[in-house]
Amino acid sequence: MAGEPQDDCLFCKIVGGQIPATIIRETDTTVAFRDINPQAPTHILVIPKAHYANAAELAAAEPQIAADVLRESQAVADEEHLDSYRIVFNTGAGAGQTVFHAHAHILGGRGLQWPPG
Ligand code: AMP
Ligand code: ZN
Repeated sequence: MAGEPQDDCLFCKIVGGQIPATIIRETDTTVAFRDINPQAPTHILVIPKAHYANAAELAAAEPQIAADVLRESQAVADEEHLDSYRIVFNTGAGAGQTVFHAHAHILGGRGLQWPPG
């Protein structure tokens, strides 16, 4: 069923506690944890607890939870004292998506190039 945990999903396993992560915030609907391969001094992932393959699928099915992910992204930035940061939702393998459970990358703590590579 849409949104249900998937046995083969790394981020569902982090939500379920079967795989450890450095969790920094948790709400009823979201988890925020440090990226294992940080691309900036602050690199945190904010994910919905529910399984959707990408941000667009999440927003279509559960717009309130998509909003929760964005609100938590700001809360993470506040906790990390970031006045500027970037939110990235890689969508599709061609854009670099490797984990097909929706996640926001929160990147900050250094200058960020625009346009991105
Ligand atoms: P993406 O490439 O946009 O799908 O992002 C997936 C992100 O998950 C990458 O930045 C990885 O470094 C990160 N990642 C993979 N495994 C873990 C893990 N066990 N704990 C934390 N972050 C992870
Ligand atoms: Zn999942």
